Amino acid sequence: MLTEHPEVEDSKKGARRPSKRRRSPLKIVNQIPKRRRKEIEESDSEKSSSPESWSRRSGLENHKIGRRSTKPGEVKTIPFNLIDSKIGESWPIPITVVNGVRPGPIVTLLGAVHGNELVGPQALTFLQSHQILGSGKSIDVGVMSGTLRIMPIVNLPGYRTRTRYAPDGRDINRFFPGKAGGNTTQRISSKLWNEIISTSDFIIDLHSAASGRTNLPHIRVNLAHSQSSMLARSFGTEVLLDGLGPKGSLRRVSNEFDIGCVTFEGGGANSIDSDAVQIATYGILNVLRSLRMIPGYPSSPRFRLLASGSVWIRSDHGGLLDVLAPVGSVIEAGEVVATVTDPEHARDSVEIKSPNRGLLIGMATHPFVTSGTPIGHLLPLKKGLNTIKSRLDEDDVLMLSGIMDDPIWREEETEDIDLQSSEDITSEGWASVDEPVFEEEDD
Ligand SMILES: [Zn+2]
Repeated sequence: MLTEHPEVEDSKKGARRPSKRRRSPLKIVNQIPKRRRKEIEESDSEKSSSPESWSRRSGLENHKIGRRSTKPGEVKTIPFNLIDSKIGESWPIPITVVNGVRPGPIVTLLGAVHGNELVGPQALTFLQSHQILGSGKSIDVGVMSGTLRIMPIVNLPGYRTRTRYAPDGRDINRFFPGKAGGNTTQRISSKLWNEIISTSDFIIDLHSAASGRTNLPHIRVNLAHSQSSMLARSFGTEVLLDGLGPKGSLRRVSNEFDIGCVTFEGGGANSIDSDAVQIATYGILNVLRSLRMIPGYPSSPRFRLLASGSVWIRSDHGGLLDVLAPVGSVIEAGEVVATVTDPEHARDSVEIKSPNRGLLIGMATHPFVTSGTPIGHLLPLKKGLNTIKSRLDEDDVLMLSGIMDDPIWREEETEDIDLQSSEDITSEGWASVDEPVFEEEDD
């Protein structure tokens, strides 16, 4: 059963409310830099999205993209051309518009902005399957509020040629908001920005680690942007990495224009991590439930790790990598996470040890390493160890809530563990919030 519009929501005592309405304030302790702490606390005290600010104000409204119109209660896949060119190559990508029958926000979901990152396209395909989209299913347009726009493959040429980049060799996710008269990537970004992004209330951009690495499914977000912070928390992943995102990235520029946007990261390029696909799909449903676009209550993880700093574990030697600790492992300082051997010096091998106790959120998958290659991405853990340890399997790997069968439903039970970088941590590899935090990472 669909609950009422948030503005006229049930105020009966004991009635369950969506998480964004009853979320507890972020617990910001003294470990993070003062300025960042203030920013996050200020944004957290701001009001959540109000119905007045939503794009879909009235109940029955056609949703237009270009000249194509989708009626209320209709699901339509329309072609959208990212290159306006009379002759030569065009760039038509499919957008599925799910136009609800009640007022609500416009939510845009993007996959494969980097053409070889396939978790997003797979999750957005799954989202449109008969298991999820249809009468009586999780996404039932006949009772839905607001509008959903699903774009499984933004970088279609990249997808078809199995590359991250646009045909001109540029990274689309560094060129927002684009430039109409600029280079090819700037034109694509501009078209996408003007016709899709700028008219969205919320954006979820699905990514995977760059080639040669894999990521633990997690959310990257600017926690000081209140709409984005709300999105990130309602998604339901354990790990939230706080940061602005790279210059020109969809997330960073959307936030600059005050549009709520988060990046999901899970799995690696050129492969499909089924856990990451599932977590992405269920995370999107969690968000839609939190926004009261679809019925039901979002599930929450047992805890959230709020982190703004991370450490790279690097190989000091070259050779072939043998990973001993998979992504998601909780490891101790000094623990061996991988070994490197060299066929040209077959009798030698070296161990790579972790500099800190922490959670491995990224790991190399390409066996060939040279001196300096980052092989592991570590979130140092100083707090909440007992909580985290209660969610480890027998191999000390974190059991993620999105793939478990026992999601919790009450936001109050979620423990926020603040791991934000502290000024007293001087270990090399720490990035402060003033610098690009995940500069070597995909975003
Ligand atoms: Zn990416």
